[in-house]
Amino acid sequence: MRIKDIIIAFDGYSSCGKSTLAKQIANFFDFIYIDSGAMYRAVTLFAMQNNLIVNSDIDIEKLRNALNNIQIKFIYNQNLKKQETFLNGQNVENEIRNISVSDKVSYISEIDFVREKLVDLQQKMGPKKRIVMDGRDIGTVVFPSAELKIFMTASSDVRAKRRYDELIAKGDNVSFEEVKENIEKRDYIDENREISPLKKADDAIVLDNSILTREEQFDFVKGLIANKFSL
Ligand code: C5P
Repeated sequence: MRIKDIIIAFDGYSSCGKSTLAKQIANFFDFIYIDSGAMYRAVTLFAMQNNLIVNSDIDIEKLRNALNNIQIKFIYNQNLKKQETFLNGQNVENEIRNISVSDKVSYISEIDFVREKLVDLQQKMGPKKRIVMDGRDIGTVVFPSAELKIFMTASSDVRAKRRYDELIAKGDNVSFEEVKENIEKRDYIDENREISPLKKADDAIVLDNSILTREEQFDFVKGLIANKFSL
């Protein structure tokens, strides 16, 4: 189906399936999908690899200086049919999803100069339109004039179970409690930080998918787009 050249923003809580839905929508309408969380995760991995973050203590000045040397790219893997994240030329797609990175990422994403740099990169990916981006501040800060904004949520038990199943399937050694704690901690920090906190944009449509299947939520958003934006 041909639809207008628009930007679609998916924001919401951790692990509520934003990226799954955003990718489905991007594939269906032939848009480009951008995972803004992967960019914060890549910076976090860089900080961890270079001992710039220990527990929640960050060497702010070293990170500030290092940030100019951090290159993040998304490259489409034809075999796996998915986009992968590269940090300074290295494929870090799997590593950035580990719980050790999830555990630290919200401390890194609170930092003003990290957000400035990543928001700038994200905005430069935008003016071409036909973009689906997911994150925490896409509809509020990165693309406040996005034509469609969806704010996703689900109960924390449902979200933790989904993420736990994903990590176990990947072979990670984690407990359900650890995953749930991480999700709730990230939500808390993301919602309460000073700069660009996670919040629903006034014009966003709320999608609570606690009791929806992937197909049901996909059909809902697909229908919404087709009704509002088809040529
Ligand atoms: O989306 P994902 O769970 O991979 O995001 C990881 C973390 O990156 C979030 O918990 C949040 O701290 C940060 N993030 C952000 N702004 C975005 C995307 C992600 O602060 N636009």
